[in-house]
Amino acid sequence: MSDTIFGKIIAGEIPADLLYEDEHCIAINDIAPQAPVHVLVIPKRGIPRLVDAVDADQALLGHLLLAAGKVAEQLGVQDAFRLIINNGEGAGQTVFHLHLHILAGAAFPEGHM
Ligand code: 5GP
Repeated sequence: MSDTIFGKIIAGEIPADLLYEDEHCIAINDIAPQAPVHVLVIPKRGIPRLVDAVDADQALLGHLLLAAGKVAEQLGVQDAFRLIINNGEGAGQTVFHLHLHILAGAAFPEGHM
């Protein structure tokens, strides 16, 4: 558990719009959506940034991708969604508990940004 807002949400200390939960992660609606669908997939075990993950986290990282796919299907956006991980302050990371953004429901800009 991390000492961040996501750690508190996972601990049930702060409410969130829970869309999905399994043994290793949850998915919640982002509080400030940047697209019609903006969901966060958050591991229950907090890793601050992607680069802080180690070999022992391999299964968890794979699990998060599979969970993101399941959530996309659950929301009916499996044919058009984008996954984003912001790593580090310079990339816009504000919560230092690794999470994946699922964005969908709007036209995507071309390219990777
Ligand atoms: P980051 O910029 O770290 O990649 O993404 C953090 C995301 O968490 C932001 O999109 C922000 O809107 C969202 N967020 C921050 N605080 C809360 C909260 O208390 N509840 C929920 N559901 N989302 C939050």
